[in-house]
Amino acid sequence: MAYDYLDLDSMALELTDEHEALKQTLRRFAVENLRPAAVELDKMTPEEVIQEGSLFWETMKKMHRNGYHTAFIPEAFGGIGLDPMSFHILCEEFGYASIGFAVALGVDYFPTFFGTIVAAERPELQETIIKPFVEDMDCKLTGCWAITEPAHGSDILMSETPFFRDPKITHQVVGKKKGDEWIINGQKSAWVSCGPTASQAALFFGIDPSMGMAGGAIAIVDLTQEGVTKAKPLNKLGQRELPQGEIYFDNARIPDEWVICDQESYEEMTSLILGVANAGMATFALGGARAAFEEALTYSRERVQGGRPICEHQDVQAKLANMFIKVEASRQLSRAVMNYNMTSYPPRTEYSVTSKVFCTRTAFEVACDAMQIFGGYGLSKEYVIEKLFRDIRSTLIEDGSNESLSLVIANKILSEDLGYGTGAGW
Ligand SMILES: Cc1cc2nc3c(=O)[nH]c(=O)nc-3n(C[C@H](O)[C@H](O)[C@H](O)COP(=O)(O)OP(=O)(O)OC[C@H]3O[C@@H](n4cnc5c(N)ncnc54)[C@H](O)[C@@H]3O)c2cc1C
Repeated sequence: MAYDYLDLDSMALELTDEHEALKQTLRRFAVENLRPAAVELDKMTPEEVIQEGSLFWETMKKMHRNGYHTAFIPEAFGGIGLDPMSFHILCEEFGYASIGFAVALGVDYFPTFFGTIVAAERPELQETIIKPFVEDMDCKLTGCWAITEPAHGSDILMSETPFFRDPKITHQVVGKKKGDEWIINGQKSAWVSCGPTASQAALFFGIDPSMGMAGGAIAIVDLTQEGVTKAKPLNKLGQRELPQGEIYFDNARIPDEWVICDQESYEEMTSLILGVANAGMATFALGGARAAFEEALTYSRERVQGGRPICEHQDVQAKLANMFIKVEASRQLSRAVMNYNMTSYPPRTEYSVTSKVFCTRTAFEVACDAMQIFGGYGLSKEYVIEKLFRDIRSTLIEDGSNESLSLVIANKILSEDLGYGTGAGW
């Protein structure tokens, strides 16, 4: 297939007055609720984070009560259905306050989002899946994205590369059809975000091992049923406000109508979802980078060395300028890609992946520079830059390691015409 590279001039990327107003509302909500909760949860054990009535649950409930859990669910299904620019604003502002909560919200709607994809052919999903979630104000229904397995991290995400079709590499969670339902067995890895708290999952599992990873299916699965158990939540470096943990399936059941796709379209769907997830992850990282930049800017005006605020030293100024350039460039790229991919079919997954790799990489560079500007104090728990550094570091691996995602981009560059010339004709 021949494409043209993304032509930014053809896109309306300015914010309207409504977008500006939405930005202020979301920023206020995020700074007043997500940020303080994330700072407190960061100090707790993973078990305390997920306890009934914890700040994690209180904060998730606030998001549900404001309807933010439906930001990606179209209005036709009862959701807020934000337009691409508004959705980008939400992702940046929530990532700015807490990357962990931004991810928790991002996976919350995953199972229901899958329901909306096939709802035209299966109207019954409106009553069984979509409506109950959209109307849930008390977090009785929350979701997760269960894809990574203990033995398959990059393997399971690298659709459209040769690894994906190698029959020697197969899913650990497998499903077998029995009558009008599917029986599921196996284990998902400790990295499933909100695995310990979710009541439903968008589950990726194997059904035809002869096709390798491409022989999969995607289904919505009820995690409250007998046959599903969970391990204790993972203790980890960053995004500690985000609970993560293993999910075990022992003859768990999925009704046939909750299976969203089989091996016929599994690889295509995996690419599509990688595109959705990566476009969001890029923007969460942008938000985190902006937070790190702001902290460093303020500190550099206050900290005095050599008889003057350190922002008056040229090397610190160069760092601040580089951080600013990276934040601004990340915003433009992630906004253009999200706008394009939410309004075009088929979406260009390679651009979402590009945006994720670029924005997370530059976010980490910004976080490193910010920490350097703080000197020794940056390493102490006294300043939030230490938490931001840990949170942003995780994004280099989250939703696919940047190295393996770069292979997805390279595969696309080498196998398709992306609108670049041959370099001849000088
Ligand atoms: C904060 C966080 C949140 C997450 N949330 C979720 C979630 O909601 N749901 C979910 O299912 N998973 C989630 N994950 C899992 C995440 O998608 C995986 O961690 C990621 O895909 C990498 O897999 P891995 O950790 O198994 O590393 P591996 O795949 O084992 O990779 C290890 C190293 O080898 C390199 N590597 C691997 N394969 C290749 C290759 N073919 N060529 C070159 N280099 C390669 C990688 O770049 C990496 O450096 C999350 C992870 C994190 C950190």
